[in-house]
Amino acid sequence: MTLPGPIDPPARLLMGPGPISAYPSVLSAMSAPLVGQYDPFMTATMAETQELYRGVWSTANDATLLVDGTSRAGIEAAIVSLVRPGDRVLVPVFGRFGHLLAEIAERAMAEVHTIEVEWGQVFPASAIEEAIVRVKPHLLALVQGDTSTTMNQPLDEVGAICAKHGVLFYTDATASLGGNDFEADAWGLDAATAGLQKCLGGPSGSSPITLSERAVEVVQSRKKIEAGIREPGDPDAPDFVRSNYFDLGMILDYWGPRRLNHHTEATSMLYGARECARVLLAEGRDAVIARHRIAGEAMLAGVRGLGLVVFGDVAHKMNNVVAVEIPEGVPGDAARGAMLTDFGIEIGTSFGPLHGRVWRIGTMGYNAREDAVLTTLAALEAVLRRYGHAVPAGGGVEAATDVYRSA
Ligand SMILES: *Cc1c(COP(=O)(O)O)cnc(C)c1O
Repeated sequence: MTLPGPIDPPARLLMGPGPISAYPSVLSAMSAPLVGQYDPFMTATMAETQELYRGVWSTANDATLLVDGTSRAGIEAAIVSLVRPGDRVLVPVFGRFGHLLAEIAERAMAEVHTIEVEWGQVFPASAIEEAIVRVKPHLLALVQGDTSTTMNQPLDEVGAICAKHGVLFYTDATASLGGNDFEADAWGLDAATAGLQKCLGGPSGSSPITLSERAVEVVQSRKKIEAGIREPGDPDAPDFVRSNYFDLGMILDYWGPRRLNHHTEATSMLYGARECARVLLAEGRDAVIARHRIAGEAMLAGVRGLGLVVFGDVAHKMNNVVAVEIPEGVPGDAARGAMLTDFGIEIGTSFGPLHGRVWRIGTMGYNAREDAVLTTLAALEAVLRRYGHAVPAGGGVEAATDVYRSA
């Protein structure tokens, strides 16, 4: 074979449901020199990153750290470490990622119970409480923002319900954290996980996680086989987590004062994750969320200004993504392809019941910006025209500009 040249990706504006274009400073941070695993600089950077993420999550939880791997690594670590085989887990499903939580809990040999609402809706707190009373779960696993439907499940009342019934409360905030309100402590969360490639503005590959004291107690109670591992199934076997990589007890010992060796922390991802949190806190958490809200409102107004129909209960839409119905007669995949090849702009397709029905357009992290919103709308207008769909000339850009002018 001919030797390929150095990596040279095309210029892209990533306006899908994630991954998104990373903040330039995150990419620079990731090219910083490596240090050894127990270099004082490394351990200090880990501690600093923990403190930064306490700010991002809005928590005082000591157990705030990163799981190495994509968002799913955080989800899997939380579930396999908090759930013993046979424990009941309740998963309210309002999109694809609810099904993922249920599947992971099943693999952890939980007794999984689900409740469902139609895609495009969220659950009233009363429906979650009713199911908790009926199922009596050990853990409630609830997605906050489900990118498959764009819905943002309100969590603010759920923690008190869980506390009242003695249920652990876990949420997957991958899609929503950093672009929508999130209050780990005030909302009574026991565990929450995320990823970098949505509103946090980094690449995928690191999963921030935070655990309450109650969750840490559960994790610690499942320890610990430091020597003399017995076979699973042995009646005298300790009730250990049946994953080494995702055993949060061991991961906590690695990040905690004992610094017990577990995996080799992914140094460049640590630098990137640290920078994602740093840029968010430097701009201000509320300011970043407001920037996402305005970009989301502008994109929503813009697609409506092009005469397009928006999917789902818009009152509960996440700030950072909108699902737009593909107009009759427009070939959805070809139009998305034209956005990418002719304009360098990526928008998203959809899964499950929405496949072929909607495009998903994101405004997240670095790309929650006026110029990115306007450029995307201008390109979308041109592509819709190309496929013979009549749209109001300039209607998208104008409506979005109005949102920015009045913000
Ligand atoms: C995007 C997304 C994920 C992504 O998981 P990865 O392992 O990073 O691909 C997980 N959960 C939710 C709710 C998401 O929106």
